[in-house]
Order: sequence, then C-alpha cells, then structure tokens
Amino acid sequence: MSLSFDPDRLPLPNGHFIGDRLIPAEDGQPRLPMHRPSDGRAYADCPVASADLVDQAVATAQAALKSSNWGGLRPRDRTAVLQRWAALIEEEAETLAKVEALSSTRPVGQLVAGDVAVTAEQIRFFAEFADKEGGDLVPTDDGSLGMVMTEPYGVVGAITPWNFPLSMAGWKLGPALAAGNAVVLKPSEMTPFSTVLLAQLAVKAGVPAGLINIVQGDGPTTGAAITRHPGIAKVSFTGSTAAGSAIMADIARSGVKPMTLELGGKSPQIVFADADLDKAAAAIATSVLSNAGQACVAGSRLLVEAGVAEPLVERILDHMRAVRPGPTWDAGTRYSPIISERQRARIHAIVSASLTGPVECLTGGGPMDAEGYFYAPTLLAGVDQASPAVVEEIFGPVLTVQSFDSEEEAMALADHPTYGLAAGLYTRDLSRALRLTRRLQAGTVWVNRYGRSRDHILPTGGYKRSGIGKDLGREAYLANRRSKSVLIGL
Ligand code: NAD
Repeated sequence: MSLSFDPDRLPLPNGHFIGDRLIPAEDGQPRLPMHRPSDGRAYADCPVASADLVDQAVATAQAALKSSNWGGLRPRDRTAVLQRWAALIEEEAETLAKVEALSSTRPVGQLVAGDVAVTAEQIRFFAEFADKEGGDLVPTDDGSLGMVMTEPYGVVGAITPWNFPLSMAGWKLGPALAAGNAVVLKPSEMTPFSTVLLAQLAVKAGVPAGLINIVQGDGPTTGAAITRHPGIAKVSFTGSTAAGSAIMADIARSGVKPMTLELGGKSPQIVFADADLDKAAAAIATSVLSNAGQACVAGSRLLVEAGVAEPLVERILDHMRAVRPGPTWDAGTRYSPIISERQRARIHAIVSASLTGPVECLTGGGPMDAEGYFYAPTLLAGVDQASPAVVEEIFGPVLTVQSFDSEEEAMALADHPTYGLAAGLYTRDLSRALRLTRRLQAGTVWVNRYGRSRDHILPTGGYKRSGIGKDLGREAYLANRRSKSVLIGL
C-alpha cells in the first residue's frame, strides 16, 4: 500500500492532551494559524494553553504519579509498559507518519522507516534502563554504611522543536518515564499534532493516564508557564540557543531548578587530501540536504585541504543539483521544504548578506520554483570566518566551503566562537583522526561518516552555547533521576 495521502482528508488530533482527554482550544485564548510547508496552505489553528491550563496539566501529572505509584513500581513493570508503548508506535507507524508529514518538513516515506522507527527504538532503549541503573554503596569506615540512592524528580517539563517532532518527543519522554517521572510536554507550535498521537498511544499501551500531558502553544505563553511552574521539578529543552538563554533567565528569576538544554549548532566537516572523496562528498551532501539542512547537527561548514577542494566540491555539487522538491505527503519525496515562509526568508537574507567581495554562489542561492517553502541547495565559496553564512546557524540547505593548508589552520577554522555541537573528520590517517578528535571543541565527533546513527547509547549534546547536559545515552536516563546520599551509623 502506498504511503502517499491526501493532505485535505487527514484527521488531526487538534488540542491539548491532559489525563487521557483531548481538550480543544480554551475559550478566549489566542490560536496560531498553521500553514503546510509543502504548499503554503492554511490548514489548522494551534491552540495556545494559558498558564491556568498548564497548571491543570501539572496538577494532573502530580495526581497520576501519586495514584499510580509509577516511580515506586517494580522497575521491570515500568519497562514492560514502555515496551508495549514502543510496539504500538510501530503498529501505528503509518498514522503517526502521516500526521507528522502534514505539518512538518519530514517526508512521509522517510518517517516510517526513520523517525517513527527510531522513536520506538529510543523508548525501548530507555525502558531497559529502569532495572539496570541503581545507586551505589560507597566506601566508608567500619562504623557506618554509606549509599547513594537515586529517585525520580517528579514532574519533568519538556519543550521540543519542530524539526524532528516525534523523535525529539522520544528523547524527552523515554528517559523521563523510564526513570519514574511524569511529563508535561509542549511541542513546537508549528508541529503540535503527532506528539498528541504519541501520548494517546502511551495510554492505550498501559502508561497510567496523566503521566504524559501535552500542552500546545507558543514559547512566551505556554513554554514559559511550564518552565516557571513551581510544580515542575526539572526542565528538558531542545531548541535554539536564543530560546535556551531565555529559559535559563526565566528559571533563574522564578526559582532554581535543574535543566538540560540541547541547543543550536554550526558544525564543521573537515576533509583531508587522503580521504575517500566519493564517500566524504556523499556524507557531506546528505548532512546539508537531509530535512533541507534543518537539523541541529547539520555539517554546514566544509573545510577542505586545498589540494582536493576542487574535486570534492564538484562531487558535492552533483548531489546538490540532483535534488527534486516534492510534498511531504508524497511517498517518493526525498527533499524537504523549509518549515515556514518566515524561516525561508531568514535563510535567504543570510545567503544574500554573505554574497559580498570574493564570495561566489556555486549553486542555488534562492527559493525553488515549486509550490511550498522550498529553498535550493546552496553552496557558497570564497567565504571567510566573518561571513554571516559561516557565523550564523542558518538551518537550511546551505553549505559554505573554506580551504586549509595545515592541520593547525583546519583546527583554527573549525573552532566556532559560539557553537560546539558536532564535527566531522575525513582522513585515512588514524593517528591524525584521533589527535584532532581530542582537539575539536564539540560534543560529538564523527570520523569518516556524518550524522546520528541508531546507537542510542551515544549521548548527544553540545559544548559552548550548543547546550548543557545530554540527551540519549545513559546520561539522559541518569539526568532524569536525582541522587540522595545516605550515611547510616552502625
Ligand atoms: P525554537 O527555540 O524557536 O523553539 C523550540 C521550542 O521552544 C518550541 O516549542 C518553542 O515554542 C519553545 N520556546 C521558544 N521560546 C521559548 C521560551 N522563551 N520559553 C519556553 N519555550 C520557548 O527552536 P525551533 O526553531 O523550534 O528549532 C530549531 C532549533 O532547535 C535550532 O536552533 C536547532 O539547532 C535546535 N535543535 C537542537 C537539537 C540538539 O540536539 N541540540 C536538536 C534539534 C533542534
């Protein structure tokens, strides 16, 4: 059966999800008009939860924790319920994929095999930690017994971006629930619906109603009401560095609480002359073309050893020129639209501002001739460290290229003043790869490949202003539990 679907005939779970009820927009509260990225048509309004509704969601989460004793269950029982949820996500992959594809930039064909499958895997991965990570008995003198116990926080507040809505929700919900917490989650106001379906499936799988609550809305109203709420014990955020800073400031003003921040990036990909240029070109192109470059880890700054700059760039241009735009609801689509007209205009403004002096646009450089918010794959040569396209996180299909003559020069160019999320290295020289991996200021380094894999054990997170703390990996599970030191006099 084809995954292609008619975007005008897809039912959407439009509302907040609190307890196990889908709650429509509140009277008198604003609604945000939504447009489909693939054709620009208005198709729904996103409700905006007031602070009162967020308060109701937090109270529901607290009550559900108490009545279900979720944090105090046999850990293996939590694992079993979450595994059932993962299985249901796989069973409902097509429905989830279609709802996700309608609002977002993710093509439906890539969603079923990719994002939805990954989300189920991540939930399984974290479910397995529930009975494996405990505390420690610690060395003390003979007259006492010391231990470090760990406990859930209570209600975790989660806020997610629009670029991979389902798997971002999986990053937050999986570890928080496995670790014994409840969650109040706000998805992006541009992609609100798939997260509601995910939560409905959780209840169907046996996750106690009220442990997952989804509130819709924008950052300043609903997001801020979550981060400031005294009943939210911890905040887990993925989004831009600007919003991350606003959240830190809000938390500082409204009361201290722990937070995990997964923020922006401007990641370099460094290619040495001894690299396999065909493989490097394919990996580099994929990293800026996949989701049209709307990925935090997009490797958007190519740094290439001067001797191979030309043949490498030619190969990358071949990949870029081959893309064809298509609506996200067509099963054959590979190249995504940009999420909004506003975001496309921002991409174009940065590209245009970079076209000064010796800067040359080797391909693309503007919107594509297609319905929807498509932007052509763009390659800018002749840029320097001060070019806006090198400094700014563009969040679009734009690659800059700079060349270097030595390792030292490559390292100097790779170092971004603000971001340190990821970096790519391409070389056949293992010693050089390891030496430079140590020097790169990034939370993730990929060697002779680029992009996240399905090895969920590898934590992800940034250096510098790319974030604080980690998602995925054991670290994300542990970040959802707090430790208590106990010393017993014997
Ligand atoms: P964004 O920061 O505009 O919004 C992210 C979420 O935060 C949305 O739900 C939004 O409503 C909410 N928000 C905004 N301001 C807020 C505030 N003051 N208080 C509370 N909530 C607020 O980001 P976006 O445009 O949705 O996503 C793109 C950004 O996300 C990029 O910068 C990208 O690099 C980053 N990102 C990072 C990772 C990572 O792992 N580091 C992963 C995906 C996306």
